[in-house]
Order: sequence, then structure tokens, then C-alpha cells
Amino acid sequence: MQEISREQRQLEDQKILSKFLIFKSADFTYLDNAATTQKPECVLQAMNNYYRTQNANPLRGLYKLSIAATDAYEDAREEVRKFLNAESTEEIVFTRNATESLNLVAYSYGRAFIKEGDEIVITIMEHHSNMLPWQQLAKEKGAKLTYIMPEEDGTITEEVFRSYMNPHVKLVAMTQVSNVLGCRNDVKTFARIAHENGAVFVCDGAQSVPHIKVDVQDLDVDFLAFSGHKIYGPMGIGAFYGKKELLDKMPPFLFGGEMIEYVTTEGATWNELPHKFEAGTVNAGGAVGLGEALRYVSSIGMDRIEEREAHLTKLLMEEMKKVPHVHILGSQDPEKHYGIVTFTIDGVHPHDIAAIFDEHNVDIRAGHHCAQPLMKFCGTPSTTRASIGLYNTEEDIYKFIEALKLIRGEMGYNG
Ligand code: PMP
Repeated sequence: MQEISREQRQLEDQKILSKFLIFKSADFTYLDNAATTQKPECVLQAMNNYYRTQNANPLRGLYKLSIAATDAYEDAREEVRKFLNAESTEEIVFTRNATESLNLVAYSYGRAFIKEGDEIVITIMEHHSNMLPWQQLAKEKGAKLTYIMPEEDGTITEEVFRSYMNPHVKLVAMTQVSNVLGCRNDVKTFARIAHENGAVFVCDGAQSVPHIKVDVQDLDVDFLAFSGHKIYGPMGIGAFYGKKELLDKMPPFLFGGEMIEYVTTEGATWNELPHKFEAGTVNAGGAVGLGEALRYVSSIGMDRIEEREAHLTKLLMEEMKKVPHVHILGSQDPEKHYGIVTFTIDGVHPHDIAAIFDEHNVDIRAGHHCAQPLMKFCGTPSTTRASIGLYNTEEDIYKFIEALKLIRGEMGYNG
């Protein structure tokens, strides 16, 4: 990652911020990007333009407007393919979000290929969206579900990963970046080891795809899920990548319109990939917004985004460490946080922390972050999280730190 000068950084800040008009609508500091992100003007305009000039039911009509809608939808799929460097658009399936993507894989692949006595391996740091689908699958099939326990800072070493492999393991599901600890799992190495062991590897990319370059061919994962709204696109659209040879073998998830080839009163045959997995009228406007969001982040460059966020994470953690009674969860090394910093403050409940931050117009998250087993592993029921996006600046970090310093005082502590 290449550092840039202070002047260059400030110019870049201004250029990026000018695209996000929500920051002009009110005076607030937004540090809840792991939950969802703000949308640049180009995304809003692309969706507006789609509905104003191209809206029809895509993939069905034989008239010009419907063909334009189909083209817009399929162009968005091509943007996702390019962004993840998948080989073919047949391997990109649109869904509502990462949660639906992971459920789809668990229902379709899981119900077809996981059998009684098989083992599914996940980690204790998974978001509930990459935990409950596997819990349910294991229960239904009589399979065993095993949780990898990382070191205290979230690290899973190759040695530890290998120790969970055995001939019964048929599926591994793991997040690339933890939404609580911010740590990054070595998905490429773990996918290789899982394959050597005869297991498929499902990657939850919800917190990695918006922040680092993700190349599905390089990682060689079998499935990778993400959400549009966490990468500056609209809510209600997400996607997953799946290897063609696996998608070909998998049964559909939902049944109905659009996913069929031919229907009789006795049964049906299925449409070709990826439409086999996209039953019913699709979210074309959302896909167009997502496609534009990916074009936008690509125009900045994932390397620049990663450097910007790493720079701010370092500043944030250095300043937080100077504030007494503040404890950062996971690694104390900013390079292992990918913009996510979860913390506790002695004697103050996370909901009170968030409320005080809100009084100072700083938006952060408090609670269990949809990772209750991880909270238990960390020995705390709930925490507070600040998370960085591409438009955050040094000023945002200082505003956060100013408010952080006031919290214990506002709760009646002296120091
Ligand atoms: N996985 C991880 C790691 C996440 O952080 C989230 C969202 N917080 C999800 C999955 C689920 O994303 P969504 O709610 O958009 O489906």
C-alpha cells in the first residue's frame, strides 16, 4: 500500500465527500459502516435513471423497454463478475443480501450434499448469518457442527485450521473479515487445505468485499457472499459467487417464475445458470445501483480504499489507546483491524456509550453485533463498535475521540 502526502489525502477526502450528499444534509460523523454505508450520488442517479427510462420486467418481455431493463440488469451482473474476477457471469447470482446468499448455499448445496455423519466446520467469530444456516442444516441432517476457536486476538493459524480437518469434514464456512474483531482470515490458505481434505469452502465476504481486493479465482473459494448496502450500493440487493460446476449440480432454492425452462402438470426443468437461482421478478433497480457502486469504488481503486482505511484505523487505535479505561477487543495491532474497532469502557454499558456518542452526533454501534457466541468467547455480553468507510477522514476520528474522552465523565466518574 502506497502512503500519500497530507495535501493529497485532503484533496482525495474532499473529492470523495463531495459525492455523498447525505453529509451535507446534517452535521454528523458516521462510523457505523460495518452495519451499512452511505450512497454516492452516482448510485442514486443510476437507480433513478433506471426507473425513469428503462423500467420493465426484465428477462421476460420481447419489447424494447423490457430488453433495455434486461440489459441493465445483466450489465450489473457483469460488473459484479469483473469486481470479484469470476470467470463467468453464470457464476454470479443476485440475492437480497449476504444472509440470503449464505442461506441459499446452505439450503441448496447443503440439503443436497451434506449427509448424516458429515462434519461442517465454521468459526466462533461468524456473524449469525454464517452460523444459523449451518446450525439448522446440521440439525436437519444429523451432521456435526464444529467451531474453530481462534487465539484471543482472533488469529487462526494454519496449524490450528489443519487440526480441525478430518475425512468427515465436507464443508467449511468462514468469514474473510470479522465484523467484531476486524481480523482477516487467511481464506486462500484455508480454502486450499479444505479442498485437500475434500471439503467445499464457503466464504462470507460481507466485511471484506467493501474494503480489500477480493479475487475469487485467486482465493479459490467455492462460494463467496456479500451485500450491496455495505459497499455503497442500495439495500435489498446482494450477490454470491459460486463455482459453475457446483451451481450446475445444485437444485434450485426457490421455485416459481423465471427459474424454469419448461413446466408440465407433473414437474419442471430448470432454467440455465444463474437464472435457476433467481426465482420471481428480480430487483433490477437494486442491481443497477450495485453495479454503479462497484464502478464507483473501482474508479477510486480498492488499493486506495484499503490504504485510506488502514491510515484511519491506525490513527483511531493510537488515539483510543491514550484514553484511560478504554479496551479494544482483539488484536492491538491496527494492521489487523480492517477498519473495525470494537471496544468496551470500564463501568459504562455499551448502550449508554452509544447514546452519549449520539448526543455528540457520532454514529457508532452497540450490542452483540449479531455474533453472540463470539461475545461469549470474548467474555462480554455486548460491546461498542466504530467502523470506517471510504469517505471517513481524520476529522471524523478526532470527533470520535473527543466524544470518547467525555463518556466516563458524563456517566458520573471522575477520570
Ligand atoms: N456477515 C457479516 C460478517 C456481516 O458483518 C453481516 C452484516 N453485519 C452479514 C454477514 C449479514 O449481512 P446482511 O445483513 O446484509 O445480510
